[in-house]
Amino acid sequence: MEVYTDILSLKHTLTGLKTRKTIGLVPTMGALHRGHLSLVELSNSTCDITVVSIFVNPTQFNNKDDYKHYPRTVEKDIEMLQRAGCHIVFTPTEQEIYPEKDTKVFDFGDLDKVMEGKFRPGHFNGVAQIVSRLFDIVQPDKSFFGQKDFQQTAIIKNMVRQLNLTTEIVIAPIIREQDGLAMSSRNTLLTDIQRKNAADISRALFRLKQQAASGVSVNEITQVAIRQINANPELSVEYLEIVDGKTLQPVLNWNHQGEIFACVAVNVGKIRLIDNVQLK
Ligand code: AMP
Repeated sequence: MEVYTDILSLKHTLTGLKTRKTIGLVPTMGALHRGHLSLVELSNSTCDITVVSIFVNPTQFNNKDDYKHYPRTVEKDIEMLQRAGCHIVFTPTEQEIYPEKDTKVFDFGDLDKVMEGKFRPGHFNGVAQIVSRLFDIVQPDKSFFGQKDFQQTAIIKNMVRQLNLTTEIVIAPIIREQDGLAMSSRNTLLTDIQRKNAADISRALFRLKQQAASGVSVNEITQVAIRQINANPELSVEYLEIVDGKTLQPVLNWNHQGEIFACVAVNVGKIRLIDNVQLK
């Protein structure tokens, strides 16, 4: 496995490989867990070369404290990637990625007006800035993202269409802890008590899914799930929405055509966690 910190050497290596090999890209912010490694496995099983980027991207953080405290464990990450059979790791500095301020502004229409986009202004513009740069540098045949960041997958697919890129976007299922909590780098920031209580988030989503199958109205199950999560004093729901899988707009009833997802953001003390489940 090779580790690169500068764009030129990485590009040089990739240009040599590209004539004979397919390239898979897994963009991450590090503090890796099994969720990330599942993307590496998927890339390894469908591409010749897997490139994992580790970069805590400042432009997607709307909260300075969140950026400052975001877990950074690069050495351990590199060991994990080596064991996972990754071929190339790219760990650039901020200066390398943004020698000048990135002023690119994307228009995602209604996609970023809801949920994460609504509560984290500028977040998806920052995501699009970094992912478009990584696509430009690596020129991957396939790029791997987790369903965990459901809205992000819709944004990235939209960006690929807008920019006429050829990379294939592959979405991988959410990997969960044994008690159901969606794996997240931010989970390491939870206290033991918060960590235990955080499992109530996925519990509420799984219950919601059962109730949806039994026909309870969209509005009622939304309210019930919010109440269930908020009943835990460690947890506070920021939003819980039942939305169309493509447009991300709220779904009003179960006759809705197309895929339906329940998405939630919850504050566990100062740590903000997200999760989602497909209902239809
Ligand atoms: P992050 O490092 O949090 O930016 O995540 C990097 C990639 O890993 C994103 O595509 C995430 O959606 C994905 N990811 C994060 N957590 C999980 C998980 N629990 N299961 C599957 N994919 C995940």
